[in-house]
Amino acid sequence: MTCEIVAVGTELLLGQIVDTNSAYLSARLAEIGVSLYRRATVGDNRERLVSTLSEAWSRADVVVTIGGLGPTDDDLTREAIAQVLGETLILDEEQAEHIRRFFEERGREATPRQLRQAMRPPSAKPIPNPNGTAPGLHAEKAGKMLFALPGPPNEFIPMVQNYLLPTLGAFTGGRVIRSRVLRLCGIGESDAEAQLHDLIASTNPTLAPLAKLGEVHFRITARAETPTDADQMIAEMEQKVRERLEYYIFGIDETTLEQAVVERLVQARQTVAVAESCTGGLLGNRITDVPGSSEVFVGGVIAYSNAIKQAELGVPAEVLATVGAVSEETARAMAEGVRQRFGSDWGIGITGIAGPGGATLEKPVGLVYVAISDARTTVVRRQQFIGDRKTVKWRSAQYALWLLYRGVRDGGCDSLLRS
Ligand code: AMP
Ligand code: MG
Repeated sequence: MTCEIVAVGTELLLGQIVDTNSAYLSARLAEIGVSLYRRATVGDNRERLVSTLSEAWSRADVVVTIGGLGPTDDDLTREAIAQVLGETLILDEEQAEHIRRFFEERGREATPRQLRQAMRPPSAKPIPNPNGTAPGLHAEKAGKMLFALPGPPNEFIPMVQNYLLPTLGAFTGGRVIRSRVLRLCGIGESDAEAQLHDLIASTNPTLAPLAKLGEVHFRITARAETPTDADQMIAEMEQKVRERLEYYIFGIDETTLEQAVVERLVQARQTVAVAESCTGGLLGNRITDVPGSSEVFVGGVIAYSNAIKQAELGVPAEVLATVGAVSEETARAMAEGVRQRFGSDWGIGITGIAGPGGATLEKPVGLVYVAISDARTTVVRRQQFIGDRKTVKWRSAQYALWLLYRGVRDGGCDSLLRS
């Protein structure tokens, strides 16, 4: 089954907004085995919209338009679709009533302009839009399908999930589509892919990698007759991935690394304190983003200057004078100092060069030492991160969270020495 997407909107052509809807839909279509052959972007111009649309319609089995369904004069997608199908728009009474009610509930009256949104070609049926006034359109003609969906992502995405994918899924085999994301840290995308090569070739369920900053995600998507069947297929695929990469998996779906860390600490009834130099509080900020973190997060010191590293964390003056603030010894003293002074189970120390300035020959931009300490052991890791200032800060906090996650999960700092 071949598909083409036509994104409609002059603002897209002007670069004022990014076409995130097409990217989202492209990924979902790939997961359900629909071959996307082309994507077009066209402005709010009737003639060009009709010609783009009829080209797509002549080639593909499925055409999906995005945007241009609203009440304003520049919303021309309905008219263009009618023209391409060779039909004349009619008013859908049920949709018109729906729009009238929508405005009534808000103490207003639907204008004729608003009611334009209830127009449809006779052969098309409306697609419900629970989050807005503009319904979508679904037409089938000459063995082909055409879908029109509104542009606002909070309307578009649910309509893709609840209508478009199930409808197309019925043709590509299976009536329900479910997915689950496995989140990994501590392994690069290509290394992870290399270990899952054969699984990534699977067509149902599919396994699709997605590289994020400091993480790799794998989305498993299954098509089946029932939700239970789909879940079963996902569970089997997840099991295969876990057999190979369990060590790196910290969460599923929306779970963030900081959430996973807090969860582990809560389970272990342990606490953490942080001493941050180059991350400037980012690590503490990320941990405290997690509801319930007060149970496990004691506090931290943003020790930016040498004087504060000495006074608040007990980093020896001699260390700072000889090997400097960005060193294994300083990171170690920071982690141990904050753990002891704050009386926590775990201490983290981060010191590095976020850039763009401050580098020397021996200490380039992106050089970061991360130390993690518990009552028995302190481990320091030297990392060379790539990226601008913000990226280096993010990666440093991410790496510290990953060390902490493993330390807590695997029963102490000692475990990090073995890996
Ligand atoms: P429209 O349905 O064309 O009136 O679009 C309404 C709004 O939806 C636009 O102003 C954008 O904010 C958003 N939008 C439209 N098309 C897209 C797209 N392809 N990707 C992301 N957002 C979009
Ligand atoms: Mg528009």
